[in-house]
Amino acid sequence: MDYVERVLDQLKRKNPNEPEFHQAATEILNGLRPVVEKHPEYEKAALLERFVEPERVVLFRVPWVDDAGAVHVNKGYRVQFNSAIGPYKGGLRFHPSVNLSIIKFLGLEQILKNSLTGLPIGGGKGGSDFDPKGRSDGEIMRFCQSFMTELYRHIGQDTDVPAGDIGVGGREIGFLFGQYKRIRNEHVGVLTGRGLTYGGSLVRTEATGYGLVYITEEALKVRGDSFKGKTVVISGSGNVAIYACEKAQSLGAKVVAMYDSNGYIYDKAGIRLDVVKQIKEVERARIKEYAARVKGAEYHEGCKGIWSVPCDIALPCATQNEIDGDSARLLVKNGVKYVAEGANMPTDLEGISVFQKAGVVFLPAKAANAGGVATSALEMAQSSGRLFWSFEEVDAKLKKIMVDIYHNMDKAAEEYGCAGDYVAGANIAGFIKVAAAMMAQGVV
Ligand code: NDP
Repeated sequence: MDYVERVLDQLKRKNPNEPEFHQAATEILNGLRPVVEKHPEYEKAALLERFVEPERVVLFRVPWVDDAGAVHVNKGYRVQFNSAIGPYKGGLRFHPSVNLSIIKFLGLEQILKNSLTGLPIGGGKGGSDFDPKGRSDGEIMRFCQSFMTELYRHIGQDTDVPAGDIGVGGREIGFLFGQYKRIRNEHVGVLTGRGLTYGGSLVRTEATGYGLVYITEEALKVRGDSFKGKTVVISGSGNVAIYACEKAQSLGAKVVAMYDSNGYIYDKAGIRLDVVKQIKEVERARIKEYAARVKGAEYHEGCKGIWSVPCDIALPCATQNEIDGDSARLLVKNGVKYVAEGANMPTDLEGISVFQKAGVVFLPAKAANAGGVATSALEMAQSSGRLFWSFEEVDAKLKKIMVDIYHNMDKAAEEYGCAGDYVAGANIAGFIKVAAAMMAQGVV
C-alpha cells in the first residue's frame, strides 16, 4: 500500500457511513499521488492525514416554529475544514438530504477550489437537513434566525464567511445576515451573496454560472472553437443553471434542455430563459410549467432522461452524482465533446473515467464552478475596503480568474505527467499552495 492508499484506508475506517466523503477523498487523493511522490517530506509531516481531517466540526440543534404553531427540530452543521491560506469560506446548503458526509465532501472540495481561485480563502461548508420547499417566507425567516442564533458564535469576517448553496439564495442570506447583525451589533462582511443594498457585490448572483461558461469558453478557444452554434444541455434550473444558460446563450449556444428535481424540459427551438426565470425565480414553481407555456416544448417526468438528449456540451448544474457511468456512456454515444461541472461532484467516479477515456474535455467542479466563491472573495474585498465595484469591473475580474484557473490546472497536469487530465490538474494546482502553507505553519 502506498501513502495515498494508506490514508484513504484509514479515512474509510475512521469515518464509516460517509460515502460521499469517501468518494471525494478518493478522487482528490488519487490525483495527488504525483505530488506526494515528489515531496516525501509530506508523509513525514502526516500532511495528507491532516488535510483530510477537518480542523473543526460544529453540529447543533435548530428548533423553529411553523405557521401552524408546530415545533420542528433540524440538524445544523458547519465544517471548518482548512484555514491554512485564509479564513474558512464555503456555502450553506438547506436540503433534506444534508448529512455530515455530504457537508464533509463539499468542505474538502472547497479547500482546493478556493485555493485555485488564487485568492486568500480557506475551506469550509455547512447547512441543514431543513427542507425549504413549500415553506412560507415567515417560516424560512424563523428557521434562518434560529440557525444563526447558534452559528454566529463560530463565524466572523476574519474567521469563517459562509455563503449560499442549494436552498440558500438571496432571501435566506438576508435573514441570516439580519440575525447575525442583531446579535453581534456589527455590520460586517460575515456572509457573502448579500443583497446590493447591504454590502453585496454585483455579479455574485450570476458568478457561478457565468464562470462555468467562461472556463468552458477558454477550453473551447484553445482548441480553436467556441460556443457559437453549439447544442448545450444543462441540468438543474436553480442559480447556477440559470446563469450558465444566460451566458451560454449570449455566446451563441443553443440550450435545449434543463431540469428540476421532478423532471426535464426539452425545447428543440432553444430554451426561453425568461420563462424559466419567471417559473423558478419569481413563482418558485415546477419546471413542468414550461411545457404548458411554450409551444413545441416537451416535459418528461424524472431527471435521468436528460442525458439522452444529444448535445455538444453538457453542463451538469444541479447536485452530486447526477451523471453515472451509464449516463456518461449515453452522452458520449450521442457526441458530447465537453463536460463542465457547475454543480459539486455531479459526475461519479465511473462517469469521469468514461469521459476521460472517450477523450471528452472534462472540467471538474472545483475548477469549473469556482467563479461563485471567487466573486464572494471579491465581495469580501469590497466590504473590507468599503468599496462598490461596477458590474463590468467585477465581471472582468471573474473572467480573468476563470481563464487563469484553466491555464493553471492545464499546466499542473502537464508538469506532473498527466496532460489533459484536468481532474488531476485541478487537484494538484489547488493542493500545492495549501500544502506549502500547511508545511510553513508547522504541525497544527
Ligand atoms: P439551487 O437550489 O438554486 O438549484 C438547485 C437545482 O438543482 C434546482 O433546480 C433543484 O431542483 C435541482 N436539484 C437539487 N437537488 C436535486 C436532486 N437531488 N435531483 C435533481 N435535481 C436536484 O442551487 P444552486 O444552483 O446554487 O446549486 C447547484 C449546484 O451548484 C450545487 O451542487 C451547489 O453545491 C453548486 N454550487 C453552487 C454555487 C453557487 O454559487 N450557488 C457555487 C458553487 C457550486 P428543485 O427546484 O426541484 O429543487
